[in-house]
Amino acid sequence: MAVRGDFRDDPFLARLADQEPSAWFNPAVTTTAAGLVASELSSDIVDDAAARLERFAPWIAQAFPETGDARGVIESPLHAAPDMQRELGLTAGRLLLKRDDVLPVSGSIKARGGVHEVLEYAESLVMEAGLLPSPAEVGESTNRAAENDTDTVQSLTPGLTVAGHEDEVAGITDYRVFSSDPFRELMAEHRVVVGSTGNLGLSIGITAAALGLQATVHMSTHAQAWKKELLRSLGVEVVEHSTDYTAAVEAGRKAAQADPTTHFVDDEHSVSLFAGYAVAGRRLARQLANQEITVDVDHPLFVYLPCGIGGAPGGVAYGLKLEFGDAVHCVFAEPTAAPCMMLGVYTGLHDEISVAELGLDTHTVADGLAVGRPSGFVGRRMQGLIEGYYTVADQRMKDLVKALYATEGILAEPSAAAALDGPQWITTDADYRQRMNLTDQRLQNATHIAWLTGGGMVPEEIQRSYLA
Ligand SMILES: *Cc1c(COP(=O)(O)O)cnc(C)c1O
Repeated sequence: MAVRGDFRDDPFLARLADQEPSAWFNPAVTTTAAGLVASELSSDIVDDAAARLERFAPWIAQAFPETGDARGVIESPLHAAPDMQRELGLTAGRLLLKRDDVLPVSGSIKARGGVHEVLEYAESLVMEAGLLPSPAEVGESTNRAAENDTDTVQSLTPGLTVAGHEDEVAGITDYRVFSSDPFRELMAEHRVVVGSTGNLGLSIGITAAALGLQATVHMSTHAQAWKKELLRSLGVEVVEHSTDYTAAVEAGRKAAQADPTTHFVDDEHSVSLFAGYAVAGRRLARQLANQEITVDVDHPLFVYLPCGIGGAPGGVAYGLKLEFGDAVHCVFAEPTAAPCMMLGVYTGLHDEISVAELGLDTHTVADGLAVGRPSGFVGRRMQGLIEGYYTVADQRMKDLVKALYATEGILAEPSAAAALDGPQWITTDADYRQRMNLTDQRLQNATHIAWLTGGGMVPEEIQRSYLA
């Protein structure tokens, strides 16, 4: 544990401790082929999650009418942002925004993983109870589900018509039965528990409430009041903890373990969350293809993903690598006060080190990113596939929130705005460009995607306060 105590001998760690905005491109990053093997994860988990989301789409369309046009597929738009691109001074390539801030259900990236895990739990309950045959028994084909998914993503792209419901998967029970009495009675006997600083709790709580599941969300007292109020208004139990986030998660885990009718959503280790996030990869591939944007080694794709504990950006990065291989560069953004994933991967200590050991307190305006200790699951499995990490100071995030509003009229959370700081690190890091053979011509052909991870449910007055 060389870093302990004498970390200031390492100039890079000293910079992190001094909260100087920094980037680190991991020299140990591998090819996609090698990284996928090292991850010890199977792409089956992504196929499985995509098929599950497809089975639930009719129910989702009914429970969350805002997904109606997309036929129950929870997806967000992808569009160019030429004015913001000019503001950032990005002259080569194009900047696109991935608008998870307007993702249906909970207005943040958590509507990908969180919704999926609650649906998986609900589905397992009804199958155990014999209320539904398992998908394997009715011979459902994952490919068929993936096709429907594709149609729907096309429908999110302006200019394409929305297909009807006529191509319903044959032989599969219509999952709108989840709204029927026997299903809801079964749900009412079960509970979902999660420890969350905010957005994950929202997505889990909202989905659980819609299914009729009981839900408990353990939160830090620092979590924003409106999030707690919103959950309580849905009948979700909110338990507040005055200690830190990790302690809140532990409390949730303990309470859940004691009870077989309870499912604990484990932000640090959950494969179900991870798989739900990873479905974004194939959806994004469709959207880029529909916009006739080429991605290959000569037309690289850079994706900037705000990172808290690492589950959401880790899962999305996994899905992106499955689609684009070595043509995509995944770069994580963290606050200067909480660079937990960067520290964990850089030191090789993963979840065995906290930013507190650098004297950092995780106090940041970036709500979802105030995490001191990363997911060891994501850090260990994904380290070969994540090209780089950078930190952003609070003031810079606030400036980016303002600039995004001024140029594009979009009100994102400070956490989400951290993604916009990514391109400058790529364009100015000569070592990384050389190592990855990123020639001027390739950067001219590049696509940069800032993943706007949240903001959609933030109350207007709080959004305004970010602009003040
Ligand atoms: C949760 C969250 C993230 C990061 O996700 P992790 O799984 O915690 O890494 C980024 N942005 C927003 C807005 C979030 O809510």
